[in-house]
Amino acid sequence: MINGEKNIEKPIRWGMVGGGRGSQIGYIHRSSALRDHNFELVAGAFDIDPERGKDFGVNLHVDPERCYADYKTMFEAEAKREDGIQAVSIATPNGTHYEITKAALTAGLHVVCEKPLCFTTREAIELEELANAKNLVVGITYGYSGHQMIEQARKMIENGDLGDIRIVKMQFAHGFHSTAVEKNNASTKWRVDPKVAGPSYVLGDLGTHPLYLSEVMLPNLKIKKLMCSRQSFVKSRSPLEDNAFTIMEYENGAMGTMWSSCVNAGSMHGQTIRIIGSKASIEWWDEHPNQLRYEVQGKPAMILDRGMDYLYSEALIDDRIGGGHPEGLFEAWSNLYSRFAKAMNAKDRGETLEDVWYPGIQAGVEGVRWVENCVRSADNGAVWVEYQ
Ligand code: NAD
Repeated sequence: MINGEKNIEKPIRWGMVGGGRGSQIGYIHRSSALRDHNFELVAGAFDIDPERGKDFGVNLHVDPERCYADYKTMFEAEAKREDGIQAVSIATPNGTHYEITKAALTAGLHVVCEKPLCFTTREAIELEELANAKNLVVGITYGYSGHQMIEQARKMIENGDLGDIRIVKMQFAHGFHSTAVEKNNASTKWRVDPKVAGPSYVLGDLGTHPLYLSEVMLPNLKIKKLMCSRQSFVKSRSPLEDNAFTIMEYENGAMGTMWSSCVNAGSMHGQTIRIIGSKASIEWWDEHPNQLRYEVQGKPAMILDRGMDYLYSEALIDDRIGGGHPEGLFEAWSNLYSRFAKAMNAKDRGETLEDVWYPGIQAGVEGVRWVENCVRSADNGAVWVEYQ
């Protein structure tokens, strides 16, 4: 159980790039990093607009001298200080992640980077090699994976409760962008611009989340080939898709499907993952993250609840308040930020972190690889492609 006691000797001195006033994702980064006293926010280049960024940083109690105009200035100036930042989170639009992550690693900083890590597998592997050479952590904020019932699902599968895994059915299909909302929304506008968003919209923005959940739950399942069809129902979004269907064949013969969409009118988030085995199935839905549906063939369906003694002990490690009380996305992210801190601390001490998984650089690489393969299939006429 988590009760706020320290995980590491001293909070990690931490800065942010992006995540400024009005951004969608900045606040949850700060809230989650600061929640368990693993990090202290001491610097930032929070905004593309330096003045607004400084004003914002000051309002977060950051020393005005450490509210920088841009990330390059921040990395340079902080490197000169004895109390300079040790880690940085990057919460800027996609097209900047590669260069900022590369600069941060080069400056010797641990990184938490938003997904997608970058645009191509080649770039992703380059960043992975750099992080390994520098002995630094790169955490990727696949935040849903921090929910406790994801750990329960992982353990159930590992312990054979479902039998042999046959089918993985995934979707992240919301309806918020059923019309061209980007015309009046800056956060959505860049998402449909390939120069800033990269080679995909919903595949990368949405599909990679349940994809990572499948990697957590089924670490040995490897994609052999896939077929993807993508569409732009709002025509002005072309060539980027607002809807995509992907079918995957895994190396062991299991099959997977993914529906990525932002035009699922009427749906709130619509992120689900259903794992179907030879004996039983489980299903998790991010709109009810404290529950996991467990269906054994021939028996009544069961709803397992977070924080209960009947769960595997590993699924109780991150419990903060006991069963029955709803925990949510902010807690899930906090759980991941705690693991990032432990991993950073272990690296700095030359230790190996045992029994703690987190979405690291490998998860970043795999997300980029999956999008690249989906796009290759879709743009060649929705054909089967060998997974590369
Ligand atoms: P946004 O457009 O709402 O906000 C971007 C912020 O970054 C703004 O404050 C902007 O001023 C700042 N910025 C832009 N360029 C900058 C630069 N060069 N230097 C410093 N600051 C800069 O975007 P968002 O929706 O918050 O998304 C940001 C990233 O987070 C994206 O990569 C997105 O894919 C990702 N995201 C992830 C999740 C998740 O669940 N993990 C959810 C939403 C967004």
